[in-house]
Order: sequence, then structure tokens, then C-alpha cells
Amino acid sequence: MQKLEQLYEGKAKKVYKTDDPNLYIVDYKDDATAFNGLKKGTIVGKGVINNQMTNRFMAKLEKAGVPTHFVEELSERETVVKKVSIVPLEVIIRNLSAGSFAKRYGVEEGIVFDAPTIEFSYKNDDLGDPLLNEYHTLALKLATPEEIAVIKQYAFQVNDFLKAFWASCGVTLVDFKLEFGRLDDGTIVLADEISPDTCRLWDSKTHEKLDKDRFRRDLGGVEDAYAEVMRRMKEAL
Ligand code: ADP
Ligand code: UDP
Repeated sequence: MQKLEQLYEGKAKKVYKTDDPNLYIVDYKDDATAFNGLKKGTIVGKGVINNQMTNRFMAKLEKAGVPTHFVEELSERETVVKKVSIVPLEVIIRNLSAGSFAKRYGVEEGIVFDAPTIEFSYKNDDLGDPLLNEYHTLALKLATPEEIAVIKQYAFQVNDFLKAFWASCGVTLVDFKLEFGRLDDGTIVLADEISPDTCRLWDSKTHEKLDKDRFRRDLGGVEDAYAEVMRRMKEAL
């Protein structure tokens, strides 16, 4: 499998065509951005960790009954994925209050919810990814009611799996963002990535942040945090 024309360069990954019209190659970068691209930097080794972590989770989730775009890891930073048309929604699940939830509702971080929450943002950088509900999603024709039902079911399944997995590593899964896509036949699959860039991960005992918040909030030790969660993941597998 060979990289052909570059289709897209995003903030964290590049996407290439391949000689198979149904497959893309994604190439994970060390570039880091926050606050809709306002803050820029590099997290050395991040691309390798995010690629490997995403692929391990996608393979496990596939077995657990969540269809994914994952096909094959090509190298430390490159993976073959099924080409999808991305549903332009950021699907966010939360188990504890943090980040924009804490800010929006004026509560502290770290409140443990009785049940996970789900929310959607419109994936649109120009608009700053505005929050929307299911009615807005239908009004904007971003997804059908059937697709939204499937996406919600998969998102909670992913949460059940990830929460239990991270707990076994001594890590609390606070919240995370998922993206879904449509295959040519309309099947909804999990796409994009699952990594410390897209999840909040706290040490279960010390509550130390082991994710991109270290970069967003200038906490230092960013590379070490990514390496630590990867080390714990490998140990648990
Ligand atoms: P961003 O676009 O937010 O800067 P990235 O740098 O991660 O993010 O770029 C990767 C892009 O590839 C994202 O826009 C994501 O939605 C898209 N993508 C992820 N998986 C697939 C896939 N299987 N097929 C097509 N596009 C994908
Ligand atoms: N997230 C993400 N991409 C985004 C926005 C959020 O991966 O564009 C992830 C983020 O890492 C966190 C979760 O989604 O794990 C919830 O983020 P939140 O809404 O609290 O926003 P933030 O505080 O990151 O602005």
C-alpha cells in the first residue's frame, strides 16, 4: 500500500489517497494546536503514540461490536483506514465535569456524573465548532435520525469499553471526542482517532492530568504524560 496524492493536511494528521479508491493513509504529526488553532506547538513523539493508541483501541472496539475505519498499521505514524465521508459532528461523552462543561455551567472540574452525558458540536472551524442538539443536527441535515441513533449507541459502547480499560490502568476517563463517518454503502463507522489529544485522562489516585490539557494549560511535562499513558496501555494489553 502506497501513499499517493495528499488530500488534506489537518492540525494533527495528513490524509493521503492510495491505489485503492476505498482506502486512505493517515499520517500522524507531532504538531499540537489548541483553542481552535490559536495556540500552536510541538509534542515530540505524539504522532507515534496517537497512531499506536488509536489503532489498538479501534482493533479492540471492532471486536466488541463497534465498526471502525481501521484497516492496518503501516508504520509508527501511518495507518491504512477505510475512506469515509465524515459526519460533521464532534461527539463528546463525559463521565466527569471538566473543560468547556465546567466553564459553561459554572461548576468545578472533577464532579463524577451518575450517568455519562453526550453532546454534539458542529465540526466547523470557521464557526468555532458550536454546540448543537439533535434537532439542530436534523435541521442542518448533518445526519439522519437513524444515523444519530446509531452514533449515540456506538458512542456509549465506546465509553463503556474505554472507561473500563483505562480504569484497569489506574486512569480515569474524564471525557473524550469521537468522529464517525459513512462508508460508500452508508454504513456508519467510528473514524478519526482516540488518543490523549482527544480524551481527558487523569491518574485515578493523584488526579494528575495525563493528556493534552498539559499543553493547553501550559502545565509542563506534556511528552512525559503522553508516554506514561502509552506505557500503561501497553502494560495492560
Ligand atoms: P482537523 O481536521 O481537525 O485539523 P486532523 O489533523 O486530525 O484534524 O485531520 C484529520 C482529518 O481527517 C479530520 O478532518 C478527520 O475528520 C478526517 N478523517 C478521519 N478519519 C477519516 C477517514 N477514515 N476518512 C476520511 N477522513 C477522515
Ligand atoms: N475535544 C477534541 N477536539 C475538539 C474539542 C474537544 O478532541 O475540537 C475533546 C477534548 O480533548 C476533551 C473532550 O473532547 O477530551 C471535551 O472537550 P471540551 O468540550 O471540554 O472542550 P475544551 O475544554 O477542550 O475546549
